[in-house]
Amino acid sequence: MELVDTSDLDALRSAVRPGETKLVWLETPSNPMWSITDIAAAAAIAHAAGAKLAVDSTCATPLLTRPIELGADIVMHSATKYLNGHSDVIAGALATGTEDAFWARIRRTRGMLGQILAPLEAYMLIRGMRTLSLRVKAACDTAMDLAQRLSNHAAISHVLYPGLPQHPGHDIARRQMQGGFGGMLSIRLRGGEAAAIGAAARVELWKRATSLGGVESLIEHRGSIEGAGSPCPLDLLRLSAGIEDVEDLFRDLDQALKR
Ligand SMILES: *Cc1c(COP(=O)(O)O)cnc(C)c1O
Repeated sequence: MELVDTSDLDALRSAVRPGETKLVWLETPSNPMWSITDIAAAAAIAHAAGAKLAVDSTCATPLLTRPIELGADIVMHSATKYLNGHSDVIAGALATGTEDAFWARIRRTRGMLGQILAPLEAYMLIRGMRTLSLRVKAACDTAMDLAQRLSNHAAISHVLYPGLPQHPGHDIARRQMQGGFGGMLSIRLRGGEAAAIGAAARVELWKRATSLGGVESLIEHRGSIEGAGSPCPLDLLRLSAGIEDVEDLFRDLDQALKR
């Protein structure tokens, strides 16, 4: 396996080995820097090399991006996140546009290993999915509003959100995302690691926790969670916008950043 920054198409092109690479796996927008990969271009590169393209589209949700229509062979969603939306189920989903031999192998593996949801989890997931469109819209609107306001905040050096025009992936995101740029964003603090950890400890409405895509807004210092060797900048806080009032969310962040 080879790791490559797939938002850099030249890097992706030189990483695939025609006839040898079987699968290109990418995530867009990608956690926690929210870089954007051009799915259609990545599909063309993968297919030219005889590989399949799989897209982890968890943070885009099925509402904002339709990777199969853009050329992807397999789409993955962590249903633990937006699809469920209530942070009380662990589940995942794969989708394909073509029921080929590769898909048959995936289905066979699932059948053999018994990786199916228990009835209660299936019920809870369906319950959550009924409000997916309302929750995702609220999260996108809030994330965009916060990204714009935080861009002008004295304590912040960078806001990473594909909805901002200055984001390097903004033009691609505008083409391949419809109805919003997602509910996830990150901020980098001028005060560095200590300021980031301090701010995450001072929030009162935001909850300090891993995971994302639920009705509650979450904040996390990813560097300490990922541990030594993580490429995540230590001045970075990751934010998952929930469905609370945006004024309350901003005020809480503002007081935590100012103190
Ligand atoms: C959480 C997450 C996963 C892992 O999913 P689980 O349901 O927690 O196993 C994979 N990809 C992305 C983008 C995620 O956010």
